[in-house]
Amino acid sequence: MVRKMGVYAVLAYVIYGLFFYWYLFYFADASLPFEYQGTKADSATFLNGRELMLTEEYSKIRNLLFFLSTPFEWLFYFLILLFGFSKAFKSWAENSSKYKLLQTAIYLIWLSFFAFLATLPLSYISYSLSKTYNISTQTFPSWMKEELIDFWINYGTLLIIVPVVYWLMKKSVKRWWFYAWLLSIPFTLFMMFLQPIVIDPLYNDFYPLKNKELETKILTLANKAHIPAEHVFEVNMAEKTNSMNAYVNGIGSNARIVLWDTTLNKLSDEQILFIMAHEICHYVENHIYIGIALYLLLSLIGLYLTSRMMNWVIARHGKELKIPEVKDIRSLPLFFMILSMLMFTASPFSNLISRYEETRADRYAINMTQNPDAAITAFQELTRSGLSQVNPPFLVKIFRYSHPTMLERISTLEEFELKQRIKDK
Ligand SMILES: [Zn+2]
Repeated sequence: MVRKMGVYAVLAYVIYGLFFYWYLFYFADASLPFEYQGTKADSATFLNGRELMLTEEYSKIRNLLFFLSTPFEWLFYFLILLFGFSKAFKSWAENSSKYKLLQTAIYLIWLSFFAFLATLPLSYISYSLSKTYNISTQTFPSWMKEELIDFWINYGTLLIIVPVVYWLMKKSVKRWWFYAWLLSIPFTLFMMFLQPIVIDPLYNDFYPLKNKELETKILTLANKAHIPAEHVFEVNMAEKTNSMNAYVNGIGSNARIVLWDTTLNKLSDEQILFIMAHEICHYVENHIYIGIALYLLLSLIGLYLTSRMMNWVIARHGKELKIPEVKDIRSLPLFFMILSMLMFTASPFSNLISRYEETRADRYAINMTQNPDAAITAFQELTRSGLSQVNPPFLVKIFRYSHPTMLERISTLEEFELKQRIKDK
């Protein structure tokens, strides 16, 4: 039975992978609808032939990797249970120490280590792909260093969360998910607060804007929206990537707007001011807080469903998966697997909300800067530097796109430009 279940799981993954290969490489059509051809949103008007070809190739492979990697995690956790690894980690932990907390720490290090090893090849392929296409310029040691930082941050976080969750499971088989959710509220807020000052600096350097002339212009814009200067940062990304980005993160006194130095180096001042105005909208409209509220709501539903599904799976297949009961630490891979499945299922919904906020930010930015030409060319540059598709296939859009597609973003700006021109006449 165990072998059969293992074979079926692998087979299901292979069929799923083949489906997406067929969907992305043969079925999906990323060409533009007729009415958009030749407009400023048409990448054929601003990319050269080589860039167009590379964009198509790169996006297809990137998208395939995206769809393969999350379900690969599910397969990994399933096989870890099925072939008794989770059981083995627990007995190694029990043999190494007689203290409960230390046992959990040892169990977690084994599980994390195997998960790291299993997912490393896909991460490496993804890294070397973006190097091949000249998106990433990061050296291998620097990439590996970041992978290891990720590993230890994940491990540290699990070390705080897992013992609490399993303690709650012991206290209340029925309602642990609700207590876990309650505790996750202050924890989430605390992590969001610490993120920009404790975690982010482990990866990159953050500092005030270097170009003082540009800084004056950017801070004038920030001032208009009542954002103090000490909330605007530049980050050094140029040694790692050619792509551009800007974002808002942190909460309370640590809330900040961050501009990648690549964005500042590659775009004109007018283009940068549009990007900045877009980020200002996220900041003043509190999109971070809306995001946290949404996350907490989804995690309430998610934890409830996880608890129900864990009970169901363990009642039916506890024997094959070698999980005697929910509150046994051996059930942890099942917990991760179900949670990850639910998150993946919910991602089209959270992306939809995010795309709505991004649309608002674009509209706010163009109203603030009134320069559609700078905005359009900035988006064209973003498309070029990231080799991103202007009009991605449907499934890619709903699962991957937290931003509207460039087709949508640029054509909205073109409409604005048209209206502006009519008004001026
Ligand atoms: Zn945005």
